[in-house]
Order: sequence, then C-alpha cells, then structure tokens
Amino acid sequence: KKFVYDFTEGNKDLKDLLGGKGANLAEMTNLGLPVPPGFTITTEACKTYLASGAEPPELRDEVSAHLEALERRMGKKLGQADDPLLVSVRSGAKFSMPGMMDTVLNIGLSDGSVEGLAAQADNPRFAWDSYRRLIQMFGKTVLGVDGELFEDALDEAKKAKGAESDVDLDADDLKKLVEQFKGIVADVTGREFPQDPREQMDLAVRAVFDSWNTERAKLYRRQERIPGDLGTAVNVCSMVFGNLGQDSGTGVAFTRDPASGHQGVYGDYLQNAQGEDVVAGIRNTVPLAELENYDKASYDQLMQIMETLETHYKDLCDIEFTIERGKLWMLQTRVGKRTAAAAFRIATQLVDQGLIDEAEALQRVNGAQLAQLMFPRFDEKAGGRKIATGIAASPGAAVGKVVFDSYTAVKWSRSGEKVILVRRETNPDDLNGMIAAEGILTSRGGKTSHAAVVARGMGKTCVCGAEELEVDTKRRCMTAPGGIVVEEGDVVSIDGSSGKIFLGEVPVVPSPVVEYFEGRTAPEDGDDLVRSVHRMMTYADGVRSLRVRANADSAEDAARARRFGAQGIGLCRTEHMFLGERREQVERLILADDDAEREAALAALLPVQKKDFTELFEAMDGLPVTVRLLDPPLHEFLPDITELSVRVALAEARKEPQENDLRLLQAVHRLHEQNPMLGLRGVRLGLVIPGLFAMQVRAIAEAAAERRAAGGDPKAEIMIPLVGTVQELEIVREEVEQVVADVARAAGTDLDLAIGTMIELPRAALTAGQIAEAAEFFSFGTNDLTQTTWGFSRDDVEASFFTAYLEKGIFGVSPFETIDRDGVGSLVRSAVEAGRRTRPGIKLGVCGEHGGDPESVHFFHEVGLDYVSCSPFRIPVARLEAGRAAA
Ligand code: PEP
Ligand code: MG
Repeated sequence: KKFVYDFTEGNKDLKDLLGGKGANLAEMTNLGLPVPPGFTITTEACKTYLASGAEPPELRDEVSAHLEALERRMGKKLGQADDPLLVSVRSGAKFSMPGMMDTVLNIGLSDGSVEGLAAQADNPRFAWDSYRRLIQMFGKTVLGVDGELFEDALDEAKKAKGAESDVDLDADDLKKLVEQFKGIVADVTGREFPQDPREQMDLAVRAVFDSWNTERAKLYRRQERIPGDLGTAVNVCSMVFGNLGQDSGTGVAFTRDPASGHQGVYGDYLQNAQGEDVVAGIRNTVPLAELENYDKASYDQLMQIMETLETHYKDLCDIEFTIERGKLWMLQTRVGKRTAAAAFRIATQLVDQGLIDEAEALQRVNGAQLAQLMFPRFDEKAGGRKIATGIAASPGAAVGKVVFDSYTAVKWSRSGEKVILVRRETNPDDLNGMIAAEGILTSRGGKTSHAAVVARGMGKTCVCGAEELEVDTKRRCMTAPGGIVVEEGDVVSIDGSSGKIFLGEVPVVPSPVVEYFEGRTAPEDGDDLVRSVHRMMTYADGVRSLRVRANADSAEDAARARRFGAQGIGLCRTEHMFLGERREQVERLILADDDAEREAALAALLPVQKKDFTELFEAMDGLPVTVRLLDPPLHEFLPDITELSVRVALAEARKEPQENDLRLLQAVHRLHEQNPMLGLRGVRLGLVIPGLFAMQVRAIAEAAAERRAAGGDPKAEIMIPLVGTVQELEIVREEVEQVVADVARAAGTDLDLAIGTMIELPRAALTAGQIAEAAEFFSFGTNDLTQTTWGFSRDDVEASFFTAYLEKGIFGVSPFETIDRDGVGSLVRSAVEAGRRTRPGIKLGVCGEHGGDPESVHFFHEVGLDYVSCSPFRIPVARLEAGRAAA
C-alpha cells in the first residue's frame, strides 16, 4: 500500500484516498496551475492509525522520501537554520467539514531558524510573528493547551503597548511574546515546545488524524450524515506568505456568485494577511475586484485561472489563494456550496454553455433546494424594521408574538395565538414549545445547534445564533442593538432563509416559484429563476419513470395537486370527509342499537360521501383516484372521554341527565382501547360494522357512474387499509365487487373499478405474494409500516425520545421522514418482488409521507414502484427527485 502521494501524483477523482482538498490540489497541480509543492498522506494511513493507535510502520519512510523530494525541489530543508523550508499541515476529509478539524501553519520554525527566516524575508517582524503563530496553533491543536492562555498573553502585550491590533506589535514585542508562549507550553504540558522540525511535523500529522474523532467532528458528521469511518487525509504543503508586506495578501474567490448564481467577479481580498486573518475577520476585507488596482498582473492571472477551473470542473468553484510578493499561489479549490436559487440558475447556465448535459444538470439541484424556493417569503418592498440578523437555520417566513418559554408557547398557541419561541438556546425540554411555535429564534448556537437541527427536522422556520440579541428569559424580554426592547407578546417576523429578524408583522408573499407552479406566472414571464426551475422540471419529467400522485381528500386540494403536476390521487383518506358537521351522522352510526338505526345512519351518509367523490373525480378527470375506505378507530369520531364524563356528571348533579350524552359515554367506554393504533381500525372496521364499507363503495361507484353518464372519465380505485392477511381482503373484496356490480347494473354501464390494498403491516409485506392474489394494486403505507416495523408510535415518539436518538446518532433522520432502507425498505422490496411474482401487472405505489421525501423517492425508484403519492405541496419535489433518480 502507498500511503503518501505527491501533489503531482493524485487527481480529483481520488477523494476517498486523498480527501477533497488533497485531490483538488493534485488536480490543480496537474493542470499546471501555481500550487505550492507538497504531498498528501492518505485516509488509509489515518484509518490504520485510528484503528490501531499507531501510524502504519511504512509511513515514516514514505514521508521522509517525499519530504526529501520536496526539499530538493524547493532548494532548502525543513527548518534549515539560514533559510528554512516551512510547511503547513492541513486536514482534508472526503467531505468538507468546515472548521471541524485541525490545521497547523509554519511548521519548521524554531529558535534556530527564526532568524534565518527574518534575514531571508528581510523582515524580522514577519519571522517572529510567524513563529508566534506556530507556537500558538501548535500549542493549542497539537499539545492541547487552552487557546485562551495565548490569547490573553497577546491581549496583554497589546495593552502594555497601547496597541490596537496585532499589526502594531513590532519584532521585539513579538520576540518577547514567543518567549512567553514557550513558557505557557512548558508550564501546561510539562515539556518544551519541540524544536526539531520533523518532530513538529509528525506530531502535527498525528493531531490531524486525532481531530477526526473530536466530539464536535463526530456531531457534525452525524448531522451531515457523513460516515464515521472515512478518516481524513493530511496535506503537507510548502508555505507561501501573504503577510510579507503590501505586495502580498490573501483572498477567497468564487467563479460565480454563490448566492445568486450570476456570473461576475465575487470574492474578498485582504492585503498583507494570512488566510486565518480572513476567516477570523480580524481586519476588513475588500471586494475581490479591488485587487485589480493593487496588483493587475496577479488579478488577470487569477481571472484566467478561474475560467480554467470552471471549464475543467464544469461547475462553480470556490478558491483560496495567496499572493506572496506579487506571485499568485492557489491554496485550494473545490466545487462550491451555493444557495438553492444559485443552484438552479447555475445548472441551466452550464447547459447553455455546453459544459454539461441535461441529465448532469439534474444532479446539480435537489428537492430540498426546490422546497426552499417554494417557501413564502417576506415582502421586501414592505420594508419592515430589521432589528438583528442571525444564522439562517431553517427556511421559511414566520410571524408571531414573542414568548420566552415552552409552557407559554403551548398555552398561547392553544388559545389560537401565533407565537415565536425565543430562547438563548434550546434543549430537549423546549420541544413542545417548538412544536407549538410558528418559528424559533435563539441568540446562541450555529447551524448544528439543537434548535437548528430540530427545527429543520420539523420543517419549522428557525433563526439561530442571533448574538446581537440579549435574551433575558427571567424578565421576559430581549434587547436588540440600539436599546430596542422586545417584550413578551410583542410581534416579530423572522426570516429563516436570510436570518433577518424584524420588529412587527412583515407581510408575506408567495414565492415566485409557487406562482409558477400554480400557473399564475407563465414560465416565459417569470424571472430567470422561474425559467431555470421550469427547465429543470421539464428535464425531470422527461426522464422519470416514477409517476407522481397526490394525497388529497378535497376537490380543492386535488385541483392544486393537478396544477402542480399530479398524475392522479394516490390516497384519498375518506375519514376526513367524516369530520366537521358530519360528525353527528357518524355518531348516529356508532350509537346505532339495531340494524334499522344503523342502516338509517348509513343512508344519511351516502349522499354526502357521493358528493365528495363526484367533486374529486371531476377535479381529477381522466386520472386515477385511489379512494381508501375508512381507516381510523371509531373513537376518533366521538367526543373526548374526559370532557364527556364531566358533562354527564354536571348534568346529573343538576338532575337533568341528557340521554344522548349518556349513550355517547357508554359508547366511548365500549370503544376505548389501550392501543387504538393496533385496535379496531382499517379493514377490521369493515369486517365488524355491517354495511359501512358497502356504503362507501356505493358512494364511489355511483359517483363514478354519474360522472361517466355526464361525459366525464372517472378512474376510481378502491383501496382497503390495514390488511394483514389475504383472507380479510377476500371477504371485503367479495362485498365490494357485489356493490359495484349492483351499481353498474342499475346505471346500465360497466364499471371496472380496480380493487387493491395498502401494505402497511409487516405481515402484509411478508405475505404479499398471497395478498396479490386478491389485490390489483398495492399502495405501501409506510407511515404505519414504519410504526409497526419499529414498534414506534407515530404520534408520540418524535416528541419524546427521537431527539435523544438523533443526538446519539442512532439514526441521522427520523425513519418517519426518510425511509429506513435496511428495515422497512427491505420489507417494501420483498413485497414488491412477491407481488409481481403473483401478479406480473400489479400496480405498485406508496402513499406514506415518504412519498414526498427526496431520499425516499430515490429508494422507491430503485425498487421499481410505479408511482409515489404525496401531499400537493411536495409534488414538484417528488417530480424533480424522480427525474434525478432516473437521469
Ligand atoms: C400510511 O400508513 O402510510 C398511510 C398512508 O396511511 P395513514 O397515514 O392514513 O395511516
Ligand atoms: Mg396507514
């Protein structure tokens, strides 16, 4: 095995082995771009070290050989007294983990070489400052010294001198500081700062390896779903200096604007500085375009290189560079992160430039980005008084009254108020408040804080880390810059896409992308973002094999779904039609003492059900509509047991008992179940309540017959829920067929309604081969299938222990959100195979929440379903992801 690669030996496709940074440094080197020479120690070496606690034995010699080659090329030796070669030691994993792992610069400096560097650079201040930085960085990251100790000493030195910034310290001050820093290292670690350059380098490499497993790195990986066993590579790179004077500097650049996607010159430059200064924001940078005035030659060269990189990577690249005394050096490049809007614009621009094809363009965007573009946003024209800006943690625009604790959030929201939960930071105790709130605002913590992670999981708007806000939960107020005090109950508006916080209510406008999906803006009338989205949707629709249907129970939802591109309804939950005013009729059905009463109740429900279906078939004319027969346990249609008991008790006390309430209470008691989700629901209801399913089927069949008579093209499908065994389905099927035949005969037409079942119990999945004998289609109910496969109550667990599970990394995302491929997914896969074996033409779909989840859509494509069905708003996302899966 080879553990070390010179930059000339690697390429961009070796990210597994060389990490992202190393692979791209090699790629740039081989493109002939000015990269400071160096080499990369592989992730394999890191993995061996992490597994065994020791570097692979061959590593030392390999590093020596590469170091010698580097020294020959540079004409000087690492740490050489009169003219030291200095190197940086940088981490670089396969996936970028910004700021999570370690880097040490200026390795090779020592008491013996600092003067040599000073002489070579003709700049003693620079040499001593570099040495000071080395001890500080090395002390902190390699030797584990508390960084504050160095910071404090530095602050004191500045104070003693009356200096404003580091730059005001001269060579002598820095020399003294170096002595102090060395003293700190010796005091804390009980050993001297290592003077041997090779020892410095080896220790730094090991520290980078170790940094793979710091707590923050582990947390970051869990949240970003980066596997924990990849390890990091280590890049050893000869140092170039941007802090050698005004003809030096350092900067970052983007080949196009990562915020908008538009082309132009984007980036920041800082004269006479090292990269760390830019990141730390110690001094103010200038826009990259200014560089043209400082150093035209370097600027022109940089522009040229940016073009080379974009054409080569065929994508937006971000770049770190340094100019050392008028010579440009490339320190890093990678395909850059971008906003959702930029992603869509760039993808279509690159197609137009002929750099990528449509299939590739589809891989450059994703459903989560599209979903972001669909959130309503604050009306920028309406102004709004901005009081602070935090981190945009979870997109959306939320308006509500400020509350400072979870209890109040729940209480106020129960009484119909919209609230914004404001906390310094959130913890699991805040969960109920987060659920109740429109949005969440914290003054501490970043994109991976509890608030951010949980809010994203819930799809709730969140701005976190708004440090300008002083949150005082005891006095129930927060203070914004300028002394603006926001009290509990005051209205604020928070923008989870930009991080902005406004006082008062800012009006919300629908996103232009939704206006396009709604058909209110024609694509050619939209802005360039709308046009890009339209083109990407067209590509996706052109290649996808999955069809996309909607979960919809009303004509209104159906119509919107159709505008959004739905190709039918995959799930109409008929129970939603039993609520509201019709509750009473359902109560009558449940309370019926004899056949006559029950039949009367059913007869009363029939026409209203029929009307629902007629409207639905009309809205979806020509497209399939899957109607599911009643599923939930009956007690859901009855009053709450406590409320009712109180009512009955009060009436009795007043000696005016209500006959109906008494009967209701008895029924509630009779129907009470410890585990209603596992009780009398779904097909079981149909089997024990005579006439219930027959009434529903009659309503469907009559509605279909009437639509047909009226010239429509209804395509109804009847779906039986919660089937666990084929026998259940056979009995119900017989009844359904009977009713359909009756209706067809009476109407004088033939109605070929498909009859199928949901697969939402493990037993159904395991016996899918048998069930397919009686089912013309399967629709996977992955909500219940997840609930029953894991034994997780879908109504409870997300608010109880899921946060702990997510924090412990037991799963990276709730299995109710993204399909659990290994468990639930494998039941789906085998049921698909068994179903098709029994009935080759069986139609297969999914209608659980997963049908609109990007990652799950890819899974359903892989297992070969015919369609996914999801809520109307998710339809564009599902279309796009189905296209991406197929492209
Ligand atoms: C399911 O279980 O996945 C499903 C779609 O049915 P419901 O959510 O109505 O139980
Ligand atoms: Mg279900």
